[in-house]
Amino acid sequence: MAKLYFYYSAMNAGKSTILLQASYNYQERGMDTVLFSPHIDTRYQSGKICSRIGLSAKSHTFTDQDDLFALVAHKKTEYSKIKSVFVDEAQFLRKQQVQQLSDVTDQLSIPVLAYGLRSDFLGEPFEGSLYLLIWADEIHEIKTICHCGAKATMNMRVDQQAQKIVAGQQIEIGGNERYVSVCRKHFKMGQAR
Ligand SMILES: [Zn+2]
Repeated sequence: MAKLYFYYSAMNAGKSTILLQASYNYQERGMDTVLFSPHIDTRYQSGKICSRIGLSAKSHTFTDQDDLFALVAHKKTEYSKIKSVFVDEAQFLRKQQVQQLSDVTDQLSIPVLAYGLRSDFLGEPFEGSLYLLIWADEIHEIKTICHCGAKATMNMRVDQQAQKIVAGQQIEIGGNERYVSVCRKHFKMGQAR
């Protein structure tokens, strides 16, 4: 039975690296994969999933409005060898898109592996992650560490002086802010280093 998997973590845990390796493992065995990434992710080129250690692969970008089930169903008729679907930055999925991905597993019998952040810089859930935590068959944590050595579970947005930012839009692109993965204690203390 195909399953919907959600791999979640704080920032910079290596999600994209793990996604690209897993996709490669399928392809190496002659099986096609479909890679999705949200249009919103403009850190790198659109239509490409890049990992911090230098791996990259082409992806199909999607917007809030796209029906991911319809997109995969259409591709399946083109290439019958699709054996898995990967989603990078899955926190940006809308609720109905998470349900569409569950339809991919249930109706097309294709496993879906979604990778994303569990929470935003305010400690609030992202819509995509919230529903993946509920709708996925399996959830797995990808671990990374805080500057204190404890497991980092939170994403702190900091300014250029490494001061915690406590208000703003959930999605901030192109500003001077950056993110630091920290443990809950240091998130509450606002200590980025
Ligand atoms: Zn810590």
